[in-house]
Amino acid sequence: MHCKKCGKAIGTDRGICPFCGAMLSKEQMEIYKQDKRENMMKPELLTEKYGEKPVYYEKSKSDNKLIGIILVLGVILILAVIILIVVLNG
Ligand SMILES: [Zn+2]
Repeated sequence: MHCKKCGKAIGTDRGICPFCGAMLSKEQMEIYKQDKRENMMKPELLTEKYGEKPVYYEKSKSDNKLIGIILVLGVILILAVIILIVVLNG
């Protein structure tokens, strides 16, 4: 099944979306259970579902790296501005 909030394929039966943390309604859980039974009869759908996981983790990893670079550049910029103000005032 797919999460109503973020639209990602959910491979859990805990009642909470592992991607955005949205609570799943009873109705959605029933659809998921039905979906699971159908997947057991069609094994090729399971590989399709698990195939999405590595892509998600790889994407979030590169995003975190980019955020880290932006944060470091931001701190350097703020420090440069503070030094400039101190130099101009002193
Ligand atoms: Zn979600």
